[in-house]
Amino acid sequence: MGEKPVPLREFLRKVEEAVSGRVASDADTLRLYSRDYWPLALLKEVRGEELPKPLAVAWPESVEEVVRLVRLCNEYRVPFVPYAGGSGVIGATMCEGCLVIDVKRMNRVLSFSEEDALVVAESGVLLRKLEEFLNEKGFTLRHIPQSYPEAALGGLIATMSTGQFSTKYGGIEELLVDLEAVAPDGGLIPMRRSIVPRAATGPDLKRLLIGSEGQLGVVTKAALKVFPLPSHTWRRAFAFPSFEAGLRAMREIMLAWATPAVARLYDRDDSAARFHDARDILLLIVEEGEEELLRAKVSVIERVVAKHGGVDIGEEYVEKWLRTRFDVISELKKLVVPLGLWFDTIETAATWSNLPRVYHEFKRRVRAVRGVYAVLAHASHFYTTGACIYFTLTYEASEEVYWRMWREAMRTLLEEGATISHHHGIGLLRREWVGEELGAALEYLRRVKKALDPMGVSNPGKWLG
Ligand SMILES: Cc1cc2nc3c(=O)[nH]c(=O)nc-3n(C[C@H](O)[C@H](O)[C@H](O)COP(=O)(O)OP(=O)(O)OC[C@H]3O[C@@H](n4cnc5c(N)ncnc54)[C@H](O)[C@@H]3O)c2cc1C
Repeated sequence: MGEKPVPLREFLRKVEEAVSGRVASDADTLRLYSRDYWPLALLKEVRGEELPKPLAVAWPESVEEVVRLVRLCNEYRVPFVPYAGGSGVIGATMCEGCLVIDVKRMNRVLSFSEEDALVVAESGVLLRKLEEFLNEKGFTLRHIPQSYPEAALGGLIATMSTGQFSTKYGGIEELLVDLEAVAPDGGLIPMRRSIVPRAATGPDLKRLLIGSEGQLGVVTKAALKVFPLPSHTWRRAFAFPSFEAGLRAMREIMLAWATPAVARLYDRDDSAARFHDARDILLLIVEEGEEELLRAKVSVIERVVAKHGGVDIGEEYVEKWLRTRFDVISELKKLVVPLGLWFDTIETAATWSNLPRVYHEFKRRVRAVRGVYAVLAHASHFYTTGACIYFTLTYEASEEVYWRMWREAMRTLLEEGATISHHHGIGLLRREWVGEELGAALEYLRRVKKALDPMGVSNPGKWLG
């Protein structure tokens, strides 16, 4: 005897009831939700190729409605995928036949405490709306990814996002104090009874949701640290004789606790593409805060930079970066599409001792792949132990070249001691390689997924499924 077919019409009627009619399954809506910003999906769309279509899209307005939706998915064994800003770049929201649970209508800021420097918001709030709200109060989250105009809180948490100011303020995982989520079986994982700065009350189950990419339920609410808007800012660009010299300077700056808010070290190819300056390796630094502290940090930074051969070249490049920093995709499209090329980015991180080799080997090996046109690189997101390198790639617009390039890139990173993803995540894109990085730990994560999601309905077909 075969399995009973899912009564989809009945399911959709119940979904409609659960969210008071805020559901759609027309062709235009399904097309809109059939991809995120994964460049391969964009390429397929441009070529008129079919992408996996969801079953329907529902827009809940409360955690109770999310609970109802997830319970229905369990009852009818229909998969669901949480959706926030839709700005992911790894195909993580792409899910054939899924109910898309778009949290964007759950977008209220629930509380803000100036005294505790904390904000609590629903997971569908757009990052820029949250930041505008905070700025009006004289505060900031200082989480500014390049997708700032589109990304929303739930997606940022579920992809373990990091922003342009992360060197000082940390990634989303460091800003997050607590969260509420609907588990894959429809149960509620509440926030702690009171928000506290830290608690030694056993392993924090909710931390599993950071980086879970919709596979472990739906984040519905989050408490985050906020900071007073900085009173003073210092911006400077430096030219370096080599990429390694720039890295050495940044290592010393980080270990001296002269941590800047933003640091971006561009190699020659990337400098040429972004600043039309092919002569130099550029290091852009932004630091901000109280004036006395700022002065002290600046003096350490200037001393260390000079020691490693860096030369002060003023503020102009930093200003340019600040003006254009959210605009890279359209810039790239304008430049590469007419040439029959396409684009992607690959971000990684490694320790100081591995970074120079990771940088050189990646450039050498990936650039040598047939069909790859250019490999630009900059280091950003610095730590006391190492940094993230962000590669921008252009290549012949073909799926075959795309996978050839990715395979070589992933092999290089795994062999040279780097991670396969610093902040974009795994999604559909990196499934093939995640096991090699995590080893047996992946099997334990899969057991957790199985225990929390016995019906296998929470964003299935990805790397935990
Ligand atoms: C131009 C551009 C620049 C970018 N720059 C950066 C950058 O600087 N830093 C960075 O980190 N990323 C960057 N990204 C990637 C992307 O913006 C981030 O991954 C972001 O965190 C995704 O958030 P989102 O709200 O758009 O999530 P979505 O795309 O909607 O979803 C992403 C994943 O999170 C899951 N998810 C969404 N909402 C929830 C929820 N409520 N509960 C559980 N799971 C959920 C989805 O199922 C999916 O798996 C960039 C993307 C683009 C297009």
